[in-house]
Amino acid sequence: MTNHDTQLSPAERARRRALASLARLAGTTAALPFIASLAPAAAFGQQTTATGAPATLGPPSRPAPQPGTRVVMLGTHGGPGIERDRAQTSSAVVVDGVPYLVDCGYGSLRQLVLSTIGYQRLDAIFFTHLHDDHTSDLPALMSLQWTGGAKKTPTEVYGPNGTARLVDAALEFVRVNAEIRTVDEGRTIDPTTLFHGHDVAATPAPTRVLADERVTVTAVESAHYPARSTAKMSHRALSYRFDTKERSIVFTGDTAYSENVVGLAKGADLFVCEVMAQSVYDANIARAKEAEAAGNPVSIARHVAETHSTPSDVGKMAAKAKVKTVVLYHLLPGPRPPGGLDYAITNFTDGVRGAGFAGEVIVSQDLMVL
Ligand SMILES: [Zn+2]
Ligand SMILES: [Zn+2]
Repeated sequence: MTNHDTQLSPAERARRRALASLARLAGTTAALPFIASLAPAAAFGQQTTATGAPATLGPPSRPAPQPGTRVVMLGTHGGPGIERDRAQTSSAVVVDGVPYLVDCGYGSLRQLVLSTIGYQRLDAIFFTHLHDDHTSDLPALMSLQWTGGAKKTPTEVYGPNGTARLVDAALEFVRVNAEIRTVDEGRTIDPTTLFHGHDVAATPAPTRVLADERVTVTAVESAHYPARSTAKMSHRALSYRFDTKERSIVFTGDTAYSENVVGLAKGADLFVCEVMAQSVYDANIARAKEAEAAGNPVSIARHVAETHSTPSDVGKMAAKAKVKTVVLYHLLPGPRPPGGLDYAITNFTDGVRGAGFAGEVIVSQDLMVL
């Protein structure tokens, strides 16, 4: 047993609950890889031969839509690095079987497949902001939705200023492939009819982004870009709230402590909040001071320290908003693969509770269902 395992009792509880939920969502415990780690013979889509050897590795079967509201943590890694065990940021709210995607960092597309949500029936994407660790899979998602050929309804992409431009740029990527396949395969769908980008105003009080028969989505400006930066650019960052019949869920995206986010999150069932360990904050403050002394006052270290939330920041927002449950994601640092650095979830949970939040705190993992 590793140090990692010995410190996981709250996470283990969350994991077991997630496994049960995931099995309900997937309709089978054979659909997902981390369930497979509990029962190797029933691995994801895998058949075994008479000798017990793996024979084929098929795609996950699509379960029947389940009623209710679930959150699927597709990618929980924080920042632009690429990790073996965690995808970049992406989450899905699935309401009565209909998915809504929040952010689409590198690896999201694969996580959508592994979660059995898939990507062909995804019609709504919400970007918290346009840093590439939240957007990288968008061109691939759009292109493969078009190439899949079955999609008849448009994909609407919402996000802060710049989102429409980003979708237009991704459409250029889609268009070259579409030209070839239209000539060569007799396809008829114009990709520009399938993808629409929408710039959402960044406001201090919640603004309605979307309302349909399943969900109302509202947004506020979060505190990911400091005033010294917003004074020089039109880019902004957003946090989203999803209200369904059963639940209310807030995704902060990337943010430092924010009163806007507190207002958005008032009484929410799930407060899905980014976090960086206090040690990450301290190290980046020290590096930022060194950079400033060397003549660079606007360093990456300063960006990291000033525009993300420590566990204490998360706890203060959660307590003030009186949310029921905190779900930590966009983890800085994330756990390393076996043989790497030790990782204690108490780095995060103790800080959140120490700031006055008395409810449940869940440190998320990729493909966790809540
Ligand atoms: Zn980020
Ligand atoms: Zn960011």
